[in-house]
Amino acid sequence: MAQRPGFPIKLSTQDKAPPAKAPAKKAAPTNPQGLGLDSSAVRQRMVQKLAAQGLKDPLVLEAMGTVERHRFVESGLVNQAYEDTSLPIGLGQTISKPNVVARMVELLLEGTSGKLGRVLEIGTGCGYQAAVLSHVATEVYSIERLKGLHEKARSNLRYFRLANVHLLFGDGMLGYAKGAPYAAIISAAGGESLPQAWLDQLAVGGRLVAPTVTANGQQALLVVDKTNQGFKQSVLEAVHFVPLKSGIS
Ligand code: SAH
Repeated sequence: MAQRPGFPIKLSTQDKAPPAKAPAKKAAPTNPQGLGLDSSAVRQRMVQKLAAQGLKDPLVLEAMGTVERHRFVESGLVNQAYEDTSLPIGLGQTISKPNVVARMVELLLEGTSGKLGRVLEIGTGCGYQAAVLSHVATEVYSIERLKGLHEKARSNLRYFRLANVHLLFGDGMLGYAKGAPYAAIISAAGGESLPQAWLDQLAVGGRLVAPTVTANGQQALLVVDKTNQGFKQSVLEAVHFVPLKSGIS
């Protein structure tokens, strides 16, 4: 198949017999998105900060260190891609803060050993969290109700070639019955209550993490475990997510 020698062969030949004239040194690769720094080093710094904030699941920290968040934001925001801040992604929506993404994914993994099975994500947005999930789960089904963002996520994710991420356009309040039951369900949008479909589509032994309006009228992270004895719910810290809306647009 290969007509020409592959790159390593070429390299070792050069090692042994350098050409009489040294080839001109290549300029340092420039980042077309203007990150300016080695993005891997910037990401590792972000991971160190996450660890200092108390995040500790090695699988999650590794995923956060792997996924190039700068590829999911507009070019004008690239220099903020690794700061712990949410950023606009168009159509009035935002990509969640790295800390919140890591925290929610860590909650999904709590008490499990190794990777999760099938995961359902509601609110694909730009696709960043779906990419993070792809490293901690065997399959990721991610639904977005806004066509524009569904397409943006598709184009953002093409570069990563993540065969286990399935992007769906539809109303996530209905879940996605075809992929059920899910080992985990995660919502990136906050509703007044949990849609019944999510509870139905969660596997026994599975966990759901979603921002939801609680008794005091504020949004907080809700964790629901489905057990043989029924649902076990805990309300965690206050959060600020975009609203969960029904229907598509
Ligand atoms: N995880 C995303 C965050 C996107 S913000 C990321 O990494 O970028 C939350 C998203 O939820 C928005 O894009 C919003 O359009 C979407 N959303 C809100 N209600 C929804 C619903 N019922 N079904 C699917 N997506 C929904």
